[in-house]
Amino acid sequence: MTTVGVLAVQGGVAEHAEMIESLGARVRLLRRPADAADVPALDAFVLPGGESGPIDRLAGMFGLRRPLAEAIERGAPVLGTCAGLILLSRWGLLDVSVERNAFGPQVCSAHARVDWEGTPIDAAFIRGPKVTEVGPLAVACAWHEGAIVGVRQGNRLGCSFHPELTEDTTLHRRLLEAAAQ
Ligand code: GLN
Repeated sequence: MTTVGVLAVQGGVAEHAEMIESLGARVRLLRRPADAADVPALDAFVLPGGESGPIDRLAGMFGLRRPLAEAIERGAPVLGTCAGLILLSRWGLLDVSVERNAFGPQVCSAHARVDWEGTPIDAAFIRGPKVTEVGPLAVACAWHEGAIVGVRQGNRLGCSFHPELTEDTTLHRRLLEAAAQ
């Protein structure tokens, strides 16, 4: 059975875990230093939304950042949502630049339908980033209010929004499909 490691040091973890389990895969929460040793054995990863600064710091302090980045570099599929997209960019795993909080403050949170390479996705935007530049290794996949909000680089998916806060399983299914290949 596919096991997905969900970085769980801060942010919106439970909804991702629920969605992954509802699709028939297993979840391994990565939240303590002791979890780092298990990272290489996992099939795919989710970097959730939350606050990118604290998530990054805690992942570094707990020794999770390096094994995660190495597993993703070796080809393990990953889905980064919102703060998770920011981390993929910051860790050099997605060839994009992002602008944080680019859709305004919490009160500007919005629910929208975005088109992801032809597939409509229900998306929740909560202080999400915009992708301001896409380098040659990445591909823009989705737009919202004229800004890029979805990118792909091989098995690495990043989105500015929270698919896990809607009923939309499109991106989680793609993650599991990539893990099964
Ligand atoms: N504003 C947060 C950040 O910059 C991201 C918000 C989110 O993940 N919903 O890290």
